[in-house]
Amino acid sequence: MQTTTAGSQIPCVTSDLLRPEDPPHGMTRGPRNYERSMLWTMRLPKALCCDTKTLSLLWQSSTRPGMPEKSYAKEFIADVRKADRCDWCWRDARKNRRGLCRHCNEIRKDLERLEKRTAEGTVNFILDWNLRVARREKEDCIAWGNIGRGILDRPVSGLDLEHWFCDLAKRLARDRKMHYGTANILGWTFTPEQRQVLAYLFWEIFGAEASHNRKGRATGRVSIEGVKS
Ligand SMILES: [Zn+2]
Repeated sequence: MQTTTAGSQIPCVTSDLLRPEDPPHGMTRGPRNYERSMLWTMRLPKALCCDTKTLSLLWQSSTRPGMPEKSYAKEFIADVRKADRCDWCWRDARKNRRGLCRHCNEIRKDLERLEKRTAEGTVNFILDWNLRVARREKEDCIAWGNIGRGILDRPVSGLDLEHWFCDLAKRLARDRKMHYGTANILGWTFTPEQRQVLAYLFWEIFGAEASHNRKGRATGRVSIEGVKS
């Protein structure tokens, strides 16, 4: 047990896995201090809104017997780091001798074929168009790979998670604002390692989706560039 500045006693959360980040702005842990953060709950969906008593119970429930004391999130991240990944898109997929997954290798082959034809002097607007699309596809693969690497290389903030949740809500519920303004709550709820795990899982989902519509998006970008130029 620990005593807060407000004098009330709350259970001391010992597990790194279960301990959220300290609330910002000098607020200490404890029900009284969470009262000051109640303003945040007014911006949350109804399902996430609860009073101080409920929050206190939620806090206590994190120390109930049977809850894991070990940080499995850290192990999860360690395993993610060890995986053998595609050099471009960084997905954990079977890769060839060139270090690319099947999806990226197809784009590479297509790009090299188009570049070879261009180098041989075959110049026409269709070839030029296809070459630009293939280059954009390659850039998109590498960009998604860099996003994945960034999740493990840098701390994942509550705002990062909010963006992922907003993207998910937009795609599935057609409501981008469903989790708008929840960055602080997400930051306090999940430990830095748990935030990395969540962001990584989101990245896996959206990265797979990006691979399905990569050609269409690349074509769209080239179309916009064509209009601009
Ligand atoms: Zn790949």
